[in-house]
Amino acid sequence: MTIAAIKEEIRKKIKRPVLPEGPENAELVFVGEAGGETEERLGRPFVGRAGKFLDKELEKFGINRAGVYVTNVVKYRCVGAPEEKDVKKCEKWLKEELKTVNPKIIIMLGKTAEKHTPRLNGVAYLALPHPSAAMRFTKMRKKFEEGMEQLRLLRA
Ligand code: URA
Repeated sequence: MTIAAIKEEIRKKIKRPVLPEGPENAELVFVGEAGGETEERLGRPFVGRAGKFLDKELEKFGINRAGVYVTNVVKYRCVGAPEEKDVKKCEKWLKEELKTVNPKIIIMLGKTAEKHTPRLNGVAYLALPHPSAAMRFTKMRKKFEEGMEQLRLLRA
């Protein structure tokens, strides 16, 4: 399935979708939890405060956001952590996305992503704290940056 076809399906099923973005042949995939208010308004992932933080971190580690694929476990806004029914509703899409992009490395941002990202053979997985925790708490920021450093080494 192409990414365009997956997005079309999401659009058909979800009233206010937060659609994945990035190249279909990206080497890196970042998986978040669900959209927030800004993401819902713009229909794009990680474009609110957490997204700005993520963009800055990517830049700091020499990664161009336009070159990576960014998506979420849940393809719409959730207030608070997504419920099991939200995850269930969206799980087939994330699996299809990962199979289609078939990246070298999948970076799971936060516990929801870590728990619900399908594992594919031959792909490296990295679990980082969620950017919204990393931007608030020093300890989480340190962990996040350690993860980014690991990512740098994995790519070198
Ligand atoms: N948090 C997420 O997990 N995903 C987004 O797209 C935005 C905020």
